[in-house]
Amino acid sequence: MSEKGLELYNRIKDKLDELQSEDSAYAQFNEIWKLACSAKYKSYDLRHFYEDTSREFVDEHRENLIKMKEDFINNIDEYVEKCLRVMEKTNHFKVYYAKNNDEAQKIFMEELGDNKVIYKSKSLEAKDAGIIDTLKKNNIVIKETDLGDVLCQLLEYDYPSFTLGPGIQFTTNEIIAKIKEKYNVEIEPEAEAIVDYYRKTYRKELLNDIKVSLTSANAISAHDGSIVLVENEGNISIITRATEKHIIVAGIQRIVPNVFDALLCAKIQERIINVDGAYISLISAPSNTSDVQGHRVFGMYGAKEVIVILVDDWRMKAVKEDLFYKDMLKCIGCKSCDLVCTASRAFGNIYASKYGIGGINIVRDYIHNGIEAAVADGLFLCTGCENCTNWCPTGVDLAEMIRQLKRIATENHLCPPSLEQYKDKIINEKNPFK
Ligand code: SF4
Ligand code: SF4
Repeated sequence: MSEKGLELYNRIKDKLDELQSEDSAYAQFNEIWKLACSAKYKSYDLRHFYEDTSREFVDEHRENLIKMKEDFINNIDEYVEKCLRVMEKTNHFKVYYAKNNDEAQKIFMEELGDNKVIYKSKSLEAKDAGIIDTLKKNNIVIKETDLGDVLCQLLEYDYPSFTLGPGIQFTTNEIIAKIKEKYNVEIEPEAEAIVDYYRKTYRKELLNDIKVSLTSANAISAHDGSIVLVENEGNISIITRATEKHIIVAGIQRIVPNVFDALLCAKIQERIINVDGAYISLISAPSNTSDVQGHRVFGMYGAKEVIVILVDDWRMKAVKEDLFYKDMLKCIGCKSCDLVCTASRAFGNIYASKYGIGGINIVRDYIHNGIEAAVADGLFLCTGCENCTNWCPTGVDLAEMIRQLKRIATENHLCPPSLEQYKDKIINEKNPFK
């Protein structure tokens, strides 16, 4: 094992030791995470709950979804080209194709102009593209709007968390104590009171003060250029309407053939984790009116400008060179693989990268930052159970991608000492148990 391998191994070991201590951030996350996984798992585990309607819904559409994703991958050039053309010509979006992350960052900063504040909701692909880091470096104030992310900002939480519920680990007492400390406001230690507080204060700000907002896209229809966004809080509806400029940063894999496929992706994302999103937005143009003498004017009550930055970076290359992580292009980001992952359940946010918890985010870290980053995320904590692959609604073989990462790590002498010993016994003794 290399020195680097040993260092990474010890880093993970230290985190696992911390997990044993009840007060540690890892233990606190793990406790609530296990409960969340059990609740979700019970309701969609095909092997134990065949009657579950959510699972039936997913299974009914799974084959079509996989075919649709494969069709996209096999015809990626045509779909990207068509989508860019339609969005620009028909939808009146301002569209960019960023070949790599540097380009995406540059475009974003140019579009941001003199604005120093940005309101955002779930924008994993902006994070992937390094845009969030660029904004921080340039001292742009990033205002989260999903309550979970707002709470993470409030409590200055910088551990990896579950993207779909990033604040679930905080107790109501922790939250109200921080609100009292920061805003000198006393509220009851109840979820309703906390929600009411943000509704009465932050909602007003969102409705009045947004110049630029940032979101991702759950799916983009190549046929008519419509953008689909799913949410349950209403923050996406607000920040995509009550703004001057709405910037969407999305990887090209978000493109699907048509608007029905886009809606299907959105519904699958909701149903597979048994969440009924309150809103699905379909954005097909900037706000506009033709009510004055039939003359079309953009920027009525909603966003005056909609900017779409489609990011390629590793994606096209993965298809053309048939790279082992090509399956990432099929991912719709439903996060159900996190909920069924044995490593994730056992080790919570230790089996995680800066992009979020679970194996899918470890592959993401490898793509952006290399094999050492993946090992530091706890790559070897993966048990190889294959639950992720079995559950994925779009046929992403995550277990195989993780296996490939372990192979690369091993070739680079980064695998843990116990596995090295195991390997030596096989080679020398022809018996791993001697
Ligand atoms: S890999 Fe599959 S299960 Fe995991 S987030 Fe992506 S689509 Fe969902
Ligand atoms: S194979 Fe690894 S990543 Fe997939 S569910 Fe099992 S432990 Fe998690």
